[in-house]
Amino acid sequence: MSAIPPNFRAFVVERVGDDTVSGVRDQTPSDLPPGEIEVAVEWSSVNYKDGLAATPGGKVARISPLIPGIDLAGRVIASETAAFSPGDEVLAHGYELGESRHGGYAEYQRLPPDWAVRIPDGLTMRDAMALGTAGFTAAMGVVALEARGLDPGAGPVLVTGASGGVGTAAVGIFARRGYEVWAATGKPDEAERLTGLGAAGILAREETTADSPRPLESGRWAGAIDTVGGATMPYILRTLRRGGAVAAAGNAGGATFTTTILPFILRGVALLGLDSVAVPPPERRALWNRLATDLRPNGLGEALEEVTLDTLAPALDAIVGGKARGRWLVRIGG
Ligand code: NDP
Repeated sequence: MSAIPPNFRAFVVERVGDDTVSGVRDQTPSDLPPGEIEVAVEWSSVNYKDGLAATPGGKVARISPLIPGIDLAGRVIASETAAFSPGDEVLAHGYELGESRHGGYAEYQRLPPDWAVRIPDGLTMRDAMALGTAGFTAAMGVVALEARGLDPGAGPVLVTGASGGVGTAAVGIFARRGYEVWAATGKPDEAERLTGLGAAGILAREETTADSPRPLESGRWAGAIDTVGGATMPYILRTLRRGGAVAAAGNAGGATFTTTILPFILRGVALLGLDSVAVPPPERRALWNRLATDLRPNGLGEALEEVTLDTLAPALDAIVGGKARGRWLVRIGG
């Protein structure tokens, strides 16, 4: 017996020919997928993938109609598993959410129990979505680099696409952990905010996307988190110090790049891939616990713009247009 009311609201994207139509629609419990946990969604957020899910040809939406939203936080209202009880505050992100299964832009959602993460002490549901997929991915990047030996004494680190969701969180986490972190951004007017988060310096996007005839330049960075890809990845690879590594999070600036093998064989650098979608539940829970404690970023709760299901559409367009400045939170219920 479902605890979800007979009618509720969701933001729905539907393919119509080569185009998409989107907007808020009334839904019923039978519109939602099955799942042992029923959640009253209070917050979601806008991630780059959500923008693509609403964009014709964006290659993220695998079903139509789709309720996008690759992450959500809310309160359990019914549970068929002993692991959760009504009233528990949970979050979920990744897996199929907002891609091949309805996601967070709905007042109610059902989840398989393995997908739900109890919100750790020290984080509110709003904090959880201020971090969201972006903060989780930034934390994955820091953990991957530190597992390979990076520490604050190794030298300066670089974050690209720094004004965006993953970038802002990565700058905040590195700064809080005592790193000399530099922020690469295409938005000069974001410099003040980024230095306020703890960035030691700012690089203009022109510098991190410039062509170079040289396969190696002087080694500057001990590590990097890259959210841009495209022309930026070759810049990072040729400027990493000996033994340095870059964690590749995204492709906001393009999916293909050309480099040489030389940074790998002459400096022993590494390219580490990040995939937040499929992180297994135990690691997922452990990383969220760390996001509430030693990986909590500087500036958590700042640079947030709140939208609702009714005012969400322009934010989805803006994120695909590279206009992110921090994060958009989607206030859904509560
Ligand atoms: P945002 O849109 O919030 O941030 C992306 C930032 O990239 C922009 O703010 C801008 O920052 C920069 N940027 C945008 N367009 C260009 C361009 N053409 N050239 C150079 N820089 C550009 O997105 P998110 O932070 O949410 O996501 C960033 C990337 O990471 C996306 O590709 C996303 O799909 C990916 N991602 C991957 C995950 C994973 O599991 N691997 C999880 C989450 C996100 P600025 O102006 O400061 O340079």
